[in-house]
Amino acid sequence: MNLNQENQAMRTTSKQMTMRAMILVTALLASSGAAEPEVFEVSKVTKANRAMFLELFASAQAEAARPVPESIFKVRRKRSDTEFEGYYVPPGTLQADYDQLYIVRLAKAPEHGLADDELVRAKAIPTTKTVESSGRTLRVWVPAPEPQKLTREDFLKRVKAGETFSAIHSSLCQECRGSGRVTPTRGKGEKDGKVRCRSCHGKGKRAVRYTLKW
Ligand SMILES: [Zn+2]
Repeated sequence: MNLNQENQAMRTTSKQMTMRAMILVTALLASSGAAEPEVFEVSKVTKANRAMFLELFASAQAEAARPVPESIFKVRRKRSDTEFEGYYVPPGTLQADYDQLYIVRLAKAPEHGLADDELVRAKAIPTTKTVESSGRTLRVWVPAPEPQKLTREDFLKRVKAGETFSAIHSSLCQECRGSGRVTPTRGKGEKDGKVRCRSCHGKGKRAVRYTLKW
C-alpha cells in the first residue's frame, strides 16, 4: 500500500467507526428512551433548592466513588514494559475489536512481563490524547485513578473550574404519590382494586439524571 492508499483506507476506517458510533448512540437512546440530562446550576443554590442540591451531590459523590471496571486488551505490539499497542477486548467475548487500536499505558509493568498477543487486564480509561503510529491515529488509555471520596470543597473547586458531574435525583411519582399503584380509570384492578403505576413502573419514584455545573 502506498501512502495515498493508506490514507484512503484510514479515512474509510474512521468513517466506518463514526457511522458505527452514531448507530450505537442512536440505538442506545432509542432503547433507553433516555432524555437529555437536566442541568442543575450549583452557583444558583438557594434555601429553596438546597435539599435537592444535597441529594444531587450525594449521588455525584457515589458515582465518583465507583471503581472503574477492568478492561481487557490484547497486546498487538509491545513498546515497553508498561506501554503497548493493543485492541480492546469486550469482557466475556475474548474477541478483540480489530477496528480499534489503542496505545495503553500501565501504571506498572505486569509481574510476568508483557508479550505480543497477550491479554492484559487493566483498570484504564481513554484520554483525549492521541498518537500517530504506522500511519494510524491511536487513542491513549491511561491507568484509571483510584476512586476517592469527593469532598464538598473539592467538588466546588472542580465545578467552579468548569468540570461537570453527573447525578441522579429521584422524586416522588406524581401519578401514584409514591405507592406504585393507581386506581385504573376503567376496568377492574387487582385485589386492592388498583393496578401498577405505569408512570414509574410501580417504583413509586422517578429518577431524573442531572448534569451538575457551576
Ligand atoms: Zn407512580
